[in-house]
Amino acid sequence: MFRLDGKVALVTGGSRGIGRACAEALAESGAHVIINYVKGEAAAKEVADGIIAKGGKAEIVGFDVADSKAVETAIEGLIEKHKRMDILVANAGIAIDGLLLRLKEEDLDRLFAVNVKGAIAATKAATRAMMKARSGRVIYLGSVVGEMGNAGQTAYAATKAALMGVAKSVAREYASRGITANVIAPGYIDTDMTTGITDAMKEQLNKLIPLGRTGAAKDIAAACVYLASDEANYVTGQVLRVNGGMHM
Ligand code: NDP
Repeated sequence: MFRLDGKVALVTGGSRGIGRACAEALAESGAHVIINYVKGEAAAKEVADGIIAKGGKAEIVGFDVADSKAVETAIEGLIEKHKRMDILVANAGIAIDGLLLRLKEEDLDRLFAVNVKGAIAATKAATRAMMKARSGRVIYLGSVVGEMGNAGQTAYAATKAALMGVAKSVAREYASRGITANVIAPGYIDTDMTTGITDAMKEQLNKLIPLGRTGAAKDIAAACVYLASDEANYVTGQVLRVNGGMHM
């Protein structure tokens, strides 16, 4: 079950956190994984080296997902090299939090450029190969706050809600080509993005989570492998919530 041997997967933002866990899990299931980063070349290399040391296949590629031209050029090059692109995990994302009253336009623009425009640009480039193959998997990283909202995260939540519209549209547009598109909506996951949460905040947060704890990146990676697999071939346009029951 859930084997990905012979498949090529691109994970944007695969150098850390959830993207890293997804890259490692996809590789463990047999995929050749391409790990994208923007600043963390050394971290991305460490992920790739770790995968290779365990007998897996991996490489790294640096580009800023907010730069559509760079995304297109990089993905075209990867497709040229591998002659395929089976799985795209559009994971790269940033959070810039704060009260709406203090929201800066440049932060709003950057959030949308990375979290939404980046995911769309990567999809546009990667699905070229998927369409030819009449098969493919696109997986977006949404968030529990895209559905629930969160004080202090108006702009971030908007980007995550947007990805649901993106996934559902891609799911409809590409269904006849054998391509599925889904969102994983994580709850609070322990990564660099959430290090700002204090122990006191975490205690409060845990009360809102039926399973009573925040999640680990590997909890998301397991959902990613499932959605990437042949076994998930009848699942498209869905939001898979992996959040300890925080939102149902
Ligand atoms: P991290 O901050 O730990 O890692 C972010 C990753 O994205 C890094 O690999 C980083 O690369 C990459 N990245 C950031 N900006 C860009 C860019 N412009 N171009 C290419 N890569 C970029 O985040 P998480 O692992 O926590 O989050 C991953 C995804 O999951 C995000 O989309 C996030 O919104 C979502 N999510 C996270 C939750 C959580 O609780 N952690 C909850 C719900 C959703 P580099 O190392 O080069 O900087």
